[in-house]
Amino acid sequence: MKELFTRLIEAIGEDLKRPGLRDTPERAAKAFAYLTQGYQQDIDEVVNGALFPSDSNDMVIVKDVELFSLCEHHMLPFIGRAHIGYIPQGQVLGLSKLARIVDMYSRRLQIQEQLSSEIATTIAQVTGAKGVGVIIEAKHLCMMMRGVEKQNSSMRTSAMLGIFRENAATRAEFLSLLQ
Ligand code: ZN
Repeated sequence: MKELFTRLIEAIGEDLKRPGLRDTPERAAKAFAYLTQGYQQDIDEVVNGALFPSDSNDMVIVKDVELFSLCEHHMLPFIGRAHIGYIPQGQVLGLSKLARIVDMYSRRLQIQEQLSSEIATTIAQVTGAKGVGVIIEAKHLCMMMRGVEKQNSSMRTSAMLGIFRENAATRAEFLSLLQ
């Protein structure tokens, strides 16, 4: 990737001998590897056994999980928050693991709709929950810095699975707890 960043900097007409740019290809390659490290992770490693028996069947909600991703159309950042809810069925997942699942899928090339649905599907599969809801609100730099240049628009996507999809009261409870 360092070599590719070298060529990219040349292609935009910059001078790679400029002191400020001398180590940029290497730094950029490291940064980009970090921002896409989700490809190197898998769900077993992320969850790492953090599933705990529980008799609770009350809704678990985690709000405002920060996320940083790259849109797959422009490879520019989109930045926002994920709100997650699920109704357990015999076991609960360690809270930090929900955030790590968000990171694993965010640190890939993404579209927001798919990101919401991958997070929800994975939580459902890992926990065997009765239902999962994921809402993501994010601002896309490809809309803010270029294109239509709309600075204040944010995109909201949701993925509802199981009882969150089938039962309007459950979905309404989830949405009201996010207020
Ligand atoms: Zn984009």
